[in-house]
Order: sequence, then structure tokens, then C-alpha cells
Amino acid sequence: MTQSFQKVRALTGMKDVLPEFGAQWEALEDTVRVWLAAYGYRNMRTPVLEHTRLFTRGIGEVTDIVEKEMYSFTDALNDEHLTMRPEFTAGMVRASIEHNMLYDRPHRVYTMGPVFRHEKPQRGRYRQFHQIDVEALGFAGPDVDAELIIMLGRLWKMLGLTDIRLELNSLGQADERAAHRNALIQYLEQHTAVLDEEAKRRMHTNPLRVLDTKNPAMQEMANNAPRLFDFLGAESLAHFDAVCTRLQDAGIEYRLNPRLVRGLDYYNLTVFEWVTDRLGAQGTVCGGGRYDGLIELLGGKPAPAVGFAIGMERLLDLCSQSSDGAAPPECDIYMIHQGDEASRRAAAIAETLRDAGLRVIVHAGSAGFKSQFKRADASGAKAAVILGADELATESASIKWLRAEVADQQPQQQTVPLVRLITELKLKV
Ligand code: ATP
Ligand code: MG
Repeated sequence: MTQSFQKVRALTGMKDVLPEFGAQWEALEDTVRVWLAAYGYRNMRTPVLEHTRLFTRGIGEVTDIVEKEMYSFTDALNDEHLTMRPEFTAGMVRASIEHNMLYDRPHRVYTMGPVFRHEKPQRGRYRQFHQIDVEALGFAGPDVDAELIIMLGRLWKMLGLTDIRLELNSLGQADERAAHRNALIQYLEQHTAVLDEEAKRRMHTNPLRVLDTKNPAMQEMANNAPRLFDFLGAESLAHFDAVCTRLQDAGIEYRLNPRLVRGLDYYNLTVFEWVTDRLGAQGTVCGGGRYDGLIELLGGKPAPAVGFAIGMERLLDLCSQSSDGAAPPECDIYMIHQGDEASRRAAAIAETLRDAGLRVIVHAGSAGFKSQFKRADASGAKAAVILGADELATESASIKWLRAEVADQQPQQQTVPLVRLITELKLKV
């Protein structure tokens, strides 16, 4: 009797990365490691699951993430409230406190991986997505704010990206935000007619976030609202100016965007976003800023910090627009064989080719030469190495060059003694 099973599909908003895109992800990750090492940033990794209260406290109760986007559940085994990380900063800061990392010196650290938010899926917006997260923990000065931003300018260059622009703002300090908040609540109270339900609800708990709205009907109201920037005192302005001067030194263009408040609660002073018009509605590739209060808020000894997160899916989408889109080859050499003895020899020879640094696929199973050649072609290999009865009898192998640029200079197929195989291949691969 045949049984039929129902297909299990991936969850909505959670994407598989298929092998033709795997190389792009790895290339980006490799570039990121080289890029960050050049500035002395070191890798650290934190768990995907954390106590829910880390995020409610760290990100803020009245935020999109905490109000409606977190994957939270109660662990049935011990009744703990847990959450899949919706961002990295809270976990990175928790770890730095837990391991006394800031006891004697500041740290430049980074991490990469999946984060989870229950959002409406669309291009550039997924429920599992990936971030590159960079944090400078224990640094107070505008020099480090600028370093982070300048670093990002270098990454775009390394990836060959243009058309990403920088928006900058300062959120000042707590007392400045409090004065602005009062003025803003007054203003919002005078404009309740145009506020949507969410805005009305947040008006008294998190009025700044009301200005972060994507509702078109509220744009004009938001544009004319009192600007936090106008409430900044001398010290905050000096910090902001110092960041700007360093950006000018580095030739980085920016636009002051007084409406930029960022989606999380913990920012102060410098905040920034890198945005592009080439990704449709989800054009923010990177967001970051200073969060001097967070370490203390999460139970650590007060210490300043600044960081940013890059959305990897959005970045890869941009990268693929500026590349030729050709899939990279699966290997350098595809080995073709006929008969059991040749198959075993091929496996052994492939090991010696790999010792010599070549990337080799040995045809698996048995098939006719014709279909093996087809596979060799599809693999993108530069050459097929053929081991049949004739070759075995004479301790040799045949090489067939598969790519036009190599084949042009070569006879279509050549037979070489096995002892010279590596040398012949390495000449052209
Ligand atoms: P948005 O305004 O697009 O919702 P955000 O302010 O919520 O962004 P951050 O929390 O700052 O985003 O996250 C940093 C970066 O992660 C964003 O700039 C973006 O590139 C990426 N990102 C955020 N949410 C998603 C998502 N649901 N899917 C894919 N990438 C995302
Ligand atoms: Mg969001």
C-alpha cells in the first residue's frame, strides 16, 4: 500500500537560501569579516533565545518590536517567558555585562545572524531576517560615532555600491528630550483630528514615535511638529558638530533629518540611517546610533556605547542589482569515470587534486559518458578529467577543457600521464 504524505512548507516570511544564492551570502560574510578586522572589531555570538524581559526593558514597552513583532512563548518545561531575539543589541549588551567585559577597557565587537520579527512579509521585510550587528561598547566620544559611519562608507565601496545616502540626526540627552516631549504632546493634543488609533494610543506614552509614522495622512502633521533638534543644548550640539566635522574630513556626505528617531527606545545623541531608492518601500539598509543609557538600564555599571545593524537581505538585494548575476562555478574540475575500478581510482586521484588546492567534484554513481559530460558542463567546471578503461591501462587521464576561454588555446581533449595531471591542470585552472 502506498502512503501519501502532505508537504510541509516553510513558515510565512521565512525564506530558504537556495544553493545558487549560497555563494553570495558567503561572499558577503567574508567581505564583512575582512572589513571589520581592518578596524579592530572582534566577533562575538549570543544565543537566539533570551528572557523576554531583556527585550521589553532593553527595547522599550511602547515600540513596534515589543508591542507586536516579538516571537515570544512560555517554555512549557519551566514556565519561563522567552523570546527569539528581534535584534542584537540587547543581547550583546547583556553578554558584556554578564561577563564583565567593560571592567577594564572598551570593546569593539560584531556579530552576524538571524533575528525574528512577526511583521507583514513583503520585499525587504521578512519574519526571519539577518543582520550584521556592530557595537562599540564603552566609548563616549563623537570620534567613535564618526568611525562607525565612515566604516560603513568603506563597506559600500568594498561591495561596489553607490546610491546609498546617509541621514543623520541627534536625539540629544534625556532632559532635552523631556522638554521636547512636553512641547510635542501639546502639539499632538491640538492635532488629534489627524491622528490614527496607534498615534492616539502612543501620544502620551511615546510621542516621539508618533512622528516615526508611515501613515501618509499624518505626514504633514509630523513635518510641522516641534523638532527635537531645536531643543538640543550646547553639549549635545557640540557632539553632533564633532561627528559632522569628522564625516566632512572623510568626504562622507550626509543630510540632517530632524525626523529621524529610529524605532527603538534606547538611543541618545547621534542616530543615523543609510537609505537607498533602489529597494522600493524598504529602503533602509542600515540603522544605528548612540545608546549611552542602555548598559545601566540592563543592570550594568553605567557605560556609553554606540552601534548599528545592517539588514543583510536588503544589502544582498542591492549587491545583486550591481552584479552580472552569473552563478559561480560549483568546482574547478569535474571527474568522469567508467567502471568500478576507475570510479575508485577517480576518488583517490580527486583527493590528491584537492591537496593541490583544486575544487573537485567526482561524478557520483554510474552513468554513460554523455550524461556525465552534461553534468560536468552544468557544474561550471573549467575542465573534465576522464578516467576510462584506456586511461587506466596506461596510467593516464584525459583532460577536456570545458570553458571557451580555456578551450581556445588547447586541443579539445588531451591525454596526460597521471604523474603530470596536477601540473597540467594547475597551468590553466
Ligand atoms: P523598518 O523601518 O524598515 O521597519 P527598523 O527600524 O525596524 O526598520 P532596525 O531595527 O533598525 O529596523 O533594524 C536594522 C536593519 O535591519 C534595518 O535597517 C533593515 O535593513 C533591516 N530590517 C529590519 N526589519 C527587517 C525585516 N522585517 N526584514 C528584513 N530586514 C529588516
Ligand atoms: Mg521595523
